[in-house]
Amino acid sequence: MTAVKVHDKYFVPFLSEETIQQKISAVAATISLDYQGKKPLFIAILNGSFMFAADLFKHISGDAEICFIKLASYKGTRSTGHVVTAIGLDTDVTGREVVIVEDIIDTGKTLHNFLPQLYNQQPASVKIAVLLHKPEATVYPININYCCFAIPNKFVVGYGLDYDGLGRNLKEIFQLQGEE
Ligand code: 5GP
Ligand code: MG
Repeated sequence: MTAVKVHDKYFVPFLSEETIQQKISAVAATISLDYQGKKPLFIAILNGSFMFAADLFKHISGDAEICFIKLASYKGTRSTGHVVTAIGLDTDVTGREVVIVEDIIDTGKTLHNFLPQLYNQQPASVKIAVLLHKPEATVYPININYCCFAIPNKFVVGYGLDYDGLGRNLKEIFQLQGEE
């Protein structure tokens, strides 16, 4: 893998396609075991998680459902700290075993805002599956049940994650070059 240019910035290879795929199938196997005999409802948070959600979900065995909501808080390479619900939840979660699927937990603000709305509808349980977690960026601590990769506090793109709309179609994950 070589560096890529997205808009005005250069990004260097960080996680290969193989590394990502191996980890996702291992996490999916753990989730499948944990929910054996149940019918979990996966709620994937768009846009960033669409690729992760697809790859994770196809490795889940047994009955499972998936639906999508759209929350956004990022502009460029920095969080705006302001979370907007662009597409809301259209599925009844009351009494359901919910697994939230997120691309990345950065400050934790997105889930910090969304979780109370979800708990209001009285799901039987809520667990969180994330592809990436930046522990050093935590402002709102979130209890993560399934984490694929804990990463440094640097901006990344690829595999569904964008920089101002671009970079989502990269199969690997790249890190902003030279960022401290
Ligand atoms: P949080 O609310 O936890 O601060 O941020 C969550 C959202 O911000 C993620 O779902 C993702 O869309 C975006 N985000 C956070 N860090 C990054 C990053 O390094 N790269 C990209 N492309 N998006 C990020
Ligand atoms: Mg996201």
